[in-house]
Amino acid sequence: MSDDAAKTYPPSAEMAANAHVNAERYAQMYQASMDDPDGFWREQAARVDWIKPFSQVKDVDFTLGNVHINWYADGSLNVSANCVDRHLETRADQTAIIWEPDSPDEDAKHISYRELHSQTCKMANILRDMGVGKGDRVIIYMPMIPEAAYAMLACARIGAIHSIVFAGFSPDALAARVNGSEAKVVITADYAPRGGRATPLKTNADQALLHCSDSVKLLVVKRTGGQTTWVDGRDFDYNALAADAADTCEPEEMNAEDPLFILYTSGSTGQPKGVVHSTGGYLVYAAMTHEITFDYHEGDIYWCTADVGWVTGHSYIVYGPLANGATTLMFEGVPTYPDASRFWQVCEKHKVNQFYTAPTAIRALMGQGNDFVTKCDLSSIKVLGTVGEPINPEAWNWYNDVVGGGRCPIVDTWWQTETGGHLMTPLPGAHDMKPGAAMKPFFGIKPVVLEPTTAEELTANPAEGVLCIADSWPGQMRTVWGDHERFEKTYFADYPGYYFTGDGCKRDADGDYWITGRVDDVINVSGHRMGTAEVESALVAHAKVAEAAVVGYPHEIKGQGIYCYVTLMGGEEPSEELRLELRNWVRTEIGPIASPDLIQWAPGLPKTRSGKIMRRILRKIAENDYGALGDTSTLADPSVVDDLIENRMNR
Ligand code: ATP
Ligand code: MG
Repeated sequence: MSDDAAKTYPPSAEMAANAHVNAERYAQMYQASMDDPDGFWREQAARVDWIKPFSQVKDVDFTLGNVHINWYADGSLNVSANCVDRHLETRADQTAIIWEPDSPDEDAKHISYRELHSQTCKMANILRDMGVGKGDRVIIYMPMIPEAAYAMLACARIGAIHSIVFAGFSPDALAARVNGSEAKVVITADYAPRGGRATPLKTNADQALLHCSDSVKLLVVKRTGGQTTWVDGRDFDYNALAADAADTCEPEEMNAEDPLFILYTSGSTGQPKGVVHSTGGYLVYAAMTHEITFDYHEGDIYWCTADVGWVTGHSYIVYGPLANGATTLMFEGVPTYPDASRFWQVCEKHKVNQFYTAPTAIRALMGQGNDFVTKCDLSSIKVLGTVGEPINPEAWNWYNDVVGGGRCPIVDTWWQTETGGHLMTPLPGAHDMKPGAAMKPFFGIKPVVLEPTTAEELTANPAEGVLCIADSWPGQMRTVWGDHERFEKTYFADYPGYYFTGDGCKRDADGDYWITGRVDDVINVSGHRMGTAEVESALVAHAKVAEAAVVGYPHEIKGQGIYCYVTLMGGEEPSEELRLELRNWVRTEIGPIASPDLIQWAPGLPKTRSGKIMRRILRKIAENDYGALGDTSTLADPSVVDDLIENRMNR
């Protein structure tokens, strides 16, 4: 993946002519955001309706021991009024949410802004009656159904802080989060259908609540009507209560810096962090990035396939799109049910204009062959997006050629739970794209590349090092819930004066940014530093390899050796010849220095529920130190770990 060899894809003339932001406008706006950040963000704040206008734009300090981040601090607003009420005058009958159920045999729902308003108000009134008030915490443990969005907006309406726990998480993980946030209420559903199977969510919640305070109440939404047990006095029947609840509810006036939600990071690199986001700055940033990154225009149908359990679902299914008065599609199911054509069938059925998914889904679908895609009419799609991890060029090209038909720009959005919204991405009408590159900073974002050990800022191009951000932006997290010290230590201690992202990156000769993976995933082989993502990309480019994960392990001569976990394509058999072939393949693709030392055949890789490979676990196994694997509660399938331990190569 040498930079000069990377092909660039400029935006089409049509896209450049019609997009909100073209190259010239990007340059001018970016410059303005650097020259006068206060003026720039004062202007952007007009994207939301304020109850009381703010006087000061920003008050930020990144100095260890005194870290604080405030935006629009003396202004007040309500997020649910911004996402719902303010649209009623102009678009009450427009669809706010298209809901596509798990099974294609069940009908989709179209929820108008008017309906969204009355449902949000009903849920808000029910929560108030259950004793929830401003500043109280509410856990949302729900399938991808419209009620999950009502629940988020209802909390925002009454000033309660929500914390969503992905429906795939275990009772233990749920209990930990109920207790960690001292929540008053858990909102759940009877069952969560997904991929043709239904998880008994209510039963999981029952189990979790055995480990929580007796005062925690449960609000239960009916999804399937399947059987559940009922605890009188503790459990509340949402559907019965909603039938009688009033459908108006005065929104609470919130300070811009009041917390809107707590959300735990994915846990790829360690114990998940309880990220706290604000009300005013977060909403401004989510709305702005949603409109500009996806080039969303009035009337477009926009689909982000994430779950609301992840930050992507918060900013780019619910808050950003609804603040913009968009039509946002919410999908309950999985990409491969009933078959690998489902995503594309949904795009065709609802005439989706912007489609946003993750590399893990793209790779999985790529492995199923092109027919699943090409049999669907995808001509409505204008912009494609990806998020979650670096996308290898192989997958990027498939997404571009087969899904996008070479017509659609791909926004490779780099950001984090912590950042609230996109920090780096090509913009569809403004930038050239390079497969696998995050390209350019968003407005107001000042990325810096630091030499990892000296913390010296590398200003010339090309440059490679750790990625930090030099100044704040409105969507930045404000603290770790209940642990401000951990917040300061994690993000502001290693590189004083900067926000440390934990990611490595390189800036190429053109000044474009590439995320190379986690800083922890950089290995040092005989004095050569290299990102493990590069070796993974080379392996995945081999026709017989479906997926690969690469980590370092202690090596007597080289310092660190290269340990590869390889999942083969269906039908391929592992053999010594293939091992040799892969080793030679990587040597020719990258160079002898990247030659794998150990290759382990892996039937499956340990992944977070959001589909990210947990390399910290693979590192432990490769180091032959698998006794303490750390927090595995966010793992999708813990059983794959046993197989990997049993067949480890470094004994
Ligand atoms: P934890 O912080 O608990 O270890 P996590 O970092 O996986 O978990 P998230 O906030 O969900 O939690 O993920 C953010 C990370 O995902 C980024 O720091 C980056 O490593 C990776 N990432 C996200 N989008 C991209 C992208 N477009 N390109 C490359 N990497 C990405
Ligand atoms: Mg992280």
